[in-house]
Amino acid sequence: MSGTAYVGIGSNLDDPLAQCEAGLAALQGLALEPVAGSPWYGSTPLGPAGQPDYVNGVARLRTALAPAALLAALQRIETERGRRRDGPRWGPRRLDLDLLLHGAHQCAGPTLTLPHPGLTHRNFVLVPLLDLAPDLRLPDGTPLRVIAGRLGRQGLWRLRSPGAAGTGVLPPLAGPVRVR
Ligand code: ATP
Ligand code: CA
Ligand code: CA
Repeated sequence: MSGTAYVGIGSNLDDPLAQCEAGLAALQGLALEPVAGSPWYGSTPLGPAGQPDYVNGVARLRTALAPAALLAALQRIETERGRRRDGPRWGPRRLDLDLLLHGAHQCAGPTLTLPHPGLTHRNFVLVPLLDLAPDLRLPDGTPLRVIAGRLGRQGLWRLRSPGAAGTGVLPPLAGPVRVR
C-alpha cells in the first residue's frame, strides 16, 4: 500500500536544529520519492516547565509502508538517533517523529492513532504542515487551515527554510524571525 504520509519532527536537546535535519534526512530511507521538508520553527515547550525551546517541522513522504510499519520505522530512527524513553511525558528529547497523517487512514489503537491526536491542538505542527500542503484536509473533510486559524501562532517563531541537510553547511539564519 503506497500513500502520502506527513511526519512531525521535533527536538529540544543536543543542537535541536541539527537533530531535526538529521531526522528529516533519515526519513528519505523510508520514501519512494524525495521527501519534502517544511521550514523549521522554534516553539515554546508543551510539557514540564524549565526545558529548552523546541525546533519543529513537518515532512511529507510518499511511502510503501503501511501506517503501523511506518510508525515502527519512525521509532527505530528515533532510537538510532539517541532518543531515550525513560524521561517524563513531554519531557526534553533529542528527536520526536510523530506520524501525523497517512493518506485518509483513521484508527485509534493502543499503539497508533491516526490522525495524530495532537494534530488539531498544536500550532507548531499545523503551521509547518500547512506550509507544505496549504489545502490539506482531515479525513473527515475539515480543512486544516480553518483549525490553524483558530489556534493562532502564539509561542511559535520561524527559523529558516530547509535545504542544507547533509551538506554540513548551514545557510545563515535570517533571524530567528518572529512571525507572531
Ligand atoms: P504526543 O504523542 O502527545 O506528541 P510524545 O510524542 O512525547 O507525545 P511518545 O513518547 O513519543 O509521545 O509516544 C508515545 C506513544 O504514542 C508511542 O508509544 C506510540 O505508540 C503512540 N502513538 C500513537 N499514535 C501515534 C502516532 N500517530 N504517531 C506517533 N506515535 C503514536
Ligand atoms: Ca510528539
Ligand atoms: Ca512521539
